[in-house]
Amino acid sequence: MIAIAREDLIRVVIGVDPAVTSGEDADETGIVAVGLGPHQDQTCRIERCAGHAYVLEDATIPRELRPTVDQWAVRVVEAFDLWQADRVIAEGNQGGELVEQVLRTVRPGLPVKRVTARVGKRTRAEPIAALYEQGRVHHIGNPLGFSVMEDQLTTWTQSDRESPDRLDALVWAISALGISGSTGVLPQMDFVSLPKRNDFDLGGLTKL
Ligand SMILES: [Zn+2]
Repeated sequence: MIAIAREDLIRVVIGVDPAVTSGEDADETGIVAVGLGPHQDQTCRIERCAGHAYVLEDATIPRELRPTVDQWAVRVVEAFDLWQADRVIAEGNQGGELVEQVLRTVRPGLPVKRVTARVGKRTRAEPIAALYEQGRVHHIGNPLGFSVMEDQLTTWTQSDRESPDRLDALVWAISALGISGSTGVLPQMDFVSLPKRNDFDLGGLTKL
């Protein structure tokens, strides 16, 4: 079992993949909280490992609830506060400025970084998949909270038309942590000297 406390996380980001459609078949706005934290011997064999990603919450409002833009913006800010996040990473290919505006209407001064896709989903997702294979991504907390996201992670293929919004939000968030998927060490990052701690304070969070 892997557990982590907030103070063990070097930074936390909220990944947001905003819905660009509305109505009956609307996309979901994927909202996922991820933190950068220490290496775990239990799952990872990489020497001088640069850190692991801890997926803290899938805060996506289910599509059945038909959230308005304001509602998901409020949800993002709630997640930001709950996890004492450092930054919101918002996908901004379509209507990016609007996304930023809406978030800052709910919380003026919210640190939002807009990211845009220059490469396809598969290319973006590959380094993240590599991190999973290396045992460097941990879903923390109640597994029921991740069931929909995990379905999207395990069933999506490049040919699917259905857009996996939670997967996108997750990929943006983990990418923003700056962990390398292949070598394990990114020398320019400021988290290479991670504290090695074995005495995790559970802080109410557990991985099952
Ligand atoms: Zn590791």
